[in-house]
Amino acid sequence: MRHLYIVLGDQLDPGAPLFDTFDPAQDRVWMAEVAEESTHVWSGKARIALFLSAMRHFADRLGQAGMPLHYVRLDDPNNQGTLAGQLAADIERLKPRQLVVCAPGDWRVLQDLKRTAAETGLPLDVREDPHFFCTVREFAAHAKGRRTLRLETFYREMRQRHGVLMQGEGDEPVGGRWNFDADNRASFGREGPGFLPPRISFEPDAITREVIALAEARFADHPGSLDRFDWPVTREQALQALHDFVTYRLAAFGPTQDAMWPGEPWLFHSWLSSSLNLKLLNPREVVAAAEAAYADGTAPLQSVEGFVRQILGWREYVRGIYWTRMPAYADHNAFDAHEDLPAWYWTGDTDMACLRDAISQTLDKGYAHHIQRLMVTGLFALLYGVEPRQVHAWYLAVYVDAVEWVELPNTLGMSQFADGGLMGSKPYVATGRYIDRMSPYCKGCRYDPALRSGEDACPFTTLYWDFLMRHEEMLSTNQRMSLQVRNLQRLDAEEKRAIRARAAEIRDCQPS
Ligand SMILES: Cc1cc2nc3c(=O)[nH]c(=O)nc-3n(C[C@H](O)[C@H](O)[C@H](O)COP(=O)(O)OP(=O)(O)OC[C@H]3O[C@@H](n4cnc5c(N)ncnc54)[C@H](O)[C@@H]3O)c2cc1C
Ligand code: SF4
Repeated sequence: MRHLYIVLGDQLDPGAPLFDTFDPAQDRVWMAEVAEESTHVWSGKARIALFLSAMRHFADRLGQAGMPLHYVRLDDPNNQGTLAGQLAADIERLKPRQLVVCAPGDWRVLQDLKRTAAETGLPLDVREDPHFFCTVREFAAHAKGRRTLRLETFYREMRQRHGVLMQGEGDEPVGGRWNFDADNRASFGREGPGFLPPRISFEPDAITREVIALAEARFADHPGSLDRFDWPVTREQALQALHDFVTYRLAAFGPTQDAMWPGEPWLFHSWLSSSLNLKLLNPREVVAAAEAAYADGTAPLQSVEGFVRQILGWREYVRGIYWTRMPAYADHNAFDAHEDLPAWYWTGDTDMACLRDAISQTLDKGYAHHIQRLMVTGLFALLYGVEPRQVHAWYLAVYVDAVEWVELPNTLGMSQFADGGLMGSKPYVATGRYIDRMSPYCKGCRYDPALRSGEDACPFTTLYWDFLMRHEEMLSTNQRMSLQVRNLQRLDAEEKRAIRARAAEIRDCQPS
């Protein structure tokens, strides 16, 4: 055999340019389901089932197209359990002369491939991943010479470079504004979101049912549920999900993208992250579909810009940070936080209404929208002082869209500020009043977001003030935190003592 084309579990694009050089007469595609991918963090069942099902559907498709394929199933008795171990065993058996792979998303996987290639004495041809607007090299050029990185600067460059939502051929944004963030922070008020378009759902077929049974048997003690698994697992389904979003929800996406409502996980979000991360969709077609909706008047600019910012901005930005900063990035811990993650993050068994809903929904569906991740589960972990690596392991485990290149910078950088400000200019910290403003959770909660101390005080509020006290010195060097630090300095000694005492109680008994 000439070349072995390695296709990883998150590289499921049947039209990938990788295959342009594939010669079915001499080459073979290699895919493997390995337990390591489900156990290096305590992966949720929905995440496991999604990857396995999407991989098997993809393998079927390659088979139908007549591509020679070596596919190792998880339940194969000869399965080696790790990517490197399985690849080495198959190289021994298949005797290729070269390995070819599209650049892996995760640093760990690239190291495994390089090591295996070196140990087996084979050249490894790593090709550019075409599923991003910005190459790692382009990001490195953007970052060069900058002391700090900012999304807004990068995003505007990307809009200009790729001509997205721009006026004609010029350098000016459509509508004369780059940023609609200030208009996109509404809550659902007292009335709630009103009519929500029904969620498009993909009934598990025979392949998905088989992997659900496998995941239930093999990973029975892993978190989450497979009772209502209905994620897109093929490109066709992902395209339907994209069409569904653009037709029914994109128009309303912008204004309330930060809002939360109990029992309503999906709201006007796209639920496209897992399809994008598995490469069932290319971000270019997703951005083009949103632009087309603006052009034909189906969706207003405020929503389309808000959505494009997430894909062309944040998604590309976090990938650039990941690949230009790994492996050291994973070790950052700017606040020197060392608490263990409270055990109820794995069950949702807490009487804090906002956390109970966000975590239960996460475990049930493998999904929570951005503000639930950033300003509920992430915020609590930051204020509580959880060790960033443990927070990272939780986020990498529980979401169906979780892959390290996107999860790690979001968790360590954006949510925990563990990188000390490389990714964002200030920590996202707030009291329970923020959650009260963006949702009705507090109305049905036993705690009061307005209270700082005492038994009824909202733990977010207590821990927020405690956080400011614990890190006052470091935070006072950050101009964007000056108002919050000044507010802290207005508290008298007795109040500070009461806050500290209540914060210690919260940590001792992990409020539940
Ligand atoms: C602590 C934390 C961990 C996260 N972990 C992941 C993860 O493992 N995988 C993941 O894909 N996203 C992650 N995100 C980003 C974001 O929360 C999810 O992409 C989004 O909630 C997915 O839901 P959606 O598809 O309905 O997104 P929408 O709200 O509809 O947004 C549209 C798309 O924009 C992209 N996007 C939005 N925000 C971000 C962001 N901050 N970074 C990168 N892409 C973004 C996603 O591809 C998403 O599908 C994380 C955010 C936080 C705060
Ligand atoms: S009072 Fe605090 S814990 Fe309860 S729902 Fe509001 S923010 Fe969450």
